[in-house]
Amino acid sequence: MNASQHELLTDYSKNLLPVFGDPSLVLVQGRGSQVTDADGKTYLDLLAGIAVNSLGYAHPAWVKAVADQAATLAHVSNFFTTVPQVNLAAQLIRLQGAAGPSRVFFSNSGTEANEAAYKLARRYGNLHAKSSILALEHGFHGRSLGALALTHKPAYKTPFEPMPTGVRHIPATLQELEENMNEDVAAIIVEPIQGEAGVVPLPEGYLSAARQLTREAGALLIVDEVQTGVGRTGAWFAHTRELQGPDAPDVVTLAKGLGGGFPVGATIVNGQENIGLLEAGMHGTTFGGNPLAARAALATLTTIEAEHLLDRAAGLGEKLRAALEEVECVRETRGAGLLIGIVLHADQTNQGAPLAPAVVTAARDAGFIINAPDAQTLRLAPALTIGEEELETFVAALPKIVTTALNSPSIGA
Ligand SMILES: *Cc1c(COP(=O)(O)O)cnc(C)c1O
Repeated sequence: MNASQHELLTDYSKNLLPVFGDPSLVLVQGRGSQVTDADGKTYLDLLAGIAVNSLGYAHPAWVKAVADQAATLAHVSNFFTTVPQVNLAAQLIRLQGAAGPSRVFFSNSGTEANEAAYKLARRYGNLHAKSSILALEHGFHGRSLGALALTHKPAYKTPFEPMPTGVRHIPATLQELEENMNEDVAAIIVEPIQGEAGVVPLPEGYLSAARQLTREAGALLIVDEVQTGVGRTGAWFAHTRELQGPDAPDVVTLAKGLGGGFPVGATIVNGQENIGLLEAGMHGTTFGGNPLAARAALATLTTIEAEHLLDRAAGLGEKLRAALEEVECVRETRGAGLLIGIVLHADQTNQGAPLAPAVVTAARDAGFIINAPDAQTLRLAPALTIGEEELETFVAALPKIVTTALNSPSIGA
């Protein structure tokens, strides 16, 4: 039972496929934004399971809801519906606030939410003789083959070619958007802020231009809010900054933060014609929207509302970025709310290794969990409930962490 962290990590390597590389810690328990490893060391978690644990670890309202639901009704098939499922769909549609009719498809992950969006776009293209789908350079939409075709990074795709056809990746500029949008385009998929690419927001006005151009070309606008949605950026959805009511996207996809730690994905489809695209039997999933997942998501949404976490995320994010920008090793910060990219001045350690991954290691040793989307950028996506003082401890510790990383022996030593 009481295996050491080292023994557990050895067993991990023996028994799990190595697709994630070697994990550095075995985590055993969490409370709020503090999480403890198998050796008893506690960390401040500034990543929250990659933008997933919106309410932190073990929030009492979430724990109670999940425990109640598990003891009541955990799963039924999609031959039936349940109270949490119906309520969650209505709640998401209300929060999103599109003008026309909307419908939701539930799944279990971001890639599945995008897979459904992709199938819907294909179907739309097939019905209207449109053969291409646009996606953005550096975009990330998931790892299942359909979502992977929408994802940009060649290293993720090349080993698995051929990809589903028809997807073209364009640079995220207004000019490229205008030049590439035409009658043959069935859909364009965009992230309001590219999270995996290093927290890179779309240019200002991009979403509203995309709305207008897709309308003129008869194409669907799909907004991937898997990382940015459900309060992460200080609003329920990041796209509402530019697109509201009658201008809502045709499709919005959600996952990560939606279940507060429980796997749940959602594809929201807006507009009368769009909700008719996938007819009975055309798509499905066994687990999607089961009562346990739906109840976890409802508890997450209800708690975000009850604890005013949208305003909190917006306010804390602004303060945090201002404080980070005063730190000498920081060149700039990007993002919105509590989705923050920190760009460092340097991109290499003194030994020539990429700096940001070395900073992640030094931060972990100093008791902070963060990650590095690229050689020069750190990403923070803490729980929306994180304490202001907790964030301050990280800002105070950052200069020393970066110095340690700069002087660290090369990775792998
Ligand atoms: C994480 C992510 C996905 C994939 O979600 P999974 O749950 O890992 O399948 C898709 N799109 C965006 C924007 C993401 O950040």
